[in-house]
Amino acid sequence: MTSIKIEPDPLGETVIRCAWLVNPGEAPRQNIRITIADGKVLELCQVPADELPRVAAVAVMPSFVNVHSHLEFSRLTAPLSPSTPFPDWIRSVIQYRSSDPDAEQSAADGIRRGLQESCAAGVRLVGEISTTEGSVSTLRRELENAQISGVSFRELIGLSAEHVDAQLNTAVEHLEGTVAGDTLSGEPCMVRGLSPHAPYSVHPELFEGLVDIAGRTKAPVAMHLAETVDEMELLRDQSGRFVDFLQSLNLWDRQVLVPGTTPLRYVEKLAQLERALAVHGNYFGPAEIEFLSRHPHVAVVYCPRTHAYFGHTPHPWQQLQSAGATVLLGTDSRASNPDLSVWKELQSVAGQKNAAPVWELLPMITTIAAAALGFDKQDFAVKVGNVFQAVSVPCSCDSESRLNAALIRSADATNIRL
Ligand SMILES: [Zn+2]
Repeated sequence: MTSIKIEPDPLGETVIRCAWLVNPGEAPRQNIRITIADGKVLELCQVPADELPRVAAVAVMPSFVNVHSHLEFSRLTAPLSPSTPFPDWIRSVIQYRSSDPDAEQSAADGIRRGLQESCAAGVRLVGEISTTEGSVSTLRRELENAQISGVSFRELIGLSAEHVDAQLNTAVEHLEGTVAGDTLSGEPCMVRGLSPHAPYSVHPELFEGLVDIAGRTKAPVAMHLAETVDEMELLRDQSGRFVDFLQSLNLWDRQVLVPGTTPLRYVEKLAQLERALAVHGNYFGPAEIEFLSRHPHVAVVYCPRTHAYFGHTPHPWQQLQSAGATVLLGTDSRASNPDLSVWKELQSVAGQKNAAPVWELLPMITTIAAAALGFDKQDFAVKVGNVFQAVSVPCSCDSESRLNAALIRSADATNIRL
């Protein structure tokens, strides 16, 4: 059996027998019987010998968290091109939006499809970048329909000083949309956060103002940082491809950035918050790694397949983790990734040289990821007393020594529906 057989018994309990139970940060357990009653895990035990023929050749894991996505692009069947140089890829994104006469409707459709795809692949909590209030409403509705949770990080963009006030107002209005009781109760919900887009698109005063608002309101923040060599050059020298790009859009003002700026300046400000996501961090160097090792509440979000799509130099995720920094995994969007499977992101990381086994990396898409979004990490484990929310992957491996390789090669994860 390579799929799970859901077996309700006369008591109304549901029994699942799986070849492996893989919980984050724990040794895998072989041949486990999971008994579920009223949607909660009632018992976990070894499958009795006489029931072994009924074990499904699957590995069961808790549902996943995808901390970074832009679901509006989920209608795309292939990433936008060219992947390099990066400013040309951004031009493709702008063109994709501006050439659509019904962009708002298309974005809503993308969000709906993206959430469906995410749910089918086992995601139960998503960190989403919302570019309009319409997108926020769509996300909220679709999260309710899917009965999963999410954080709507409202994207704010404005490199010119003249845009700062309007964008700060947008941020405040977005956060005021939080209704009473819209908190982290363990029930599906949408939390509101802020996303200053990136250092090349956000005036330093806008960035600082947004972090101050987030600090006062305890809103989570996500910002793209140290994504490309071009961004590093822009910050350091105010030169390079980003200057050409910004000039072509009439957005360049040499006075906005201070010479010698590095991503550390942004990371230090983010560290004033209770929690924040530094998305990408592809070019974080020793100074950022050292700082983040002392500030694990600022989590780095590595998007492995997007990173590969853009052909960056190796990501410092292992140096960050060994130093004690928090590293999570995200999919980014279908504009730079072939799909929205966060399990495939984990497989891609687990297959890298010197990577820890899957079960030790699993917190990057479950427990630690949930905590970084402000949710209870205890919910993202298959354990007695928890609501049973889990995924399965085909896995016929019969020995723990070969399990990691089998999981890295397995097919995509699917949500287990009771
Ligand atoms: Zn992104």
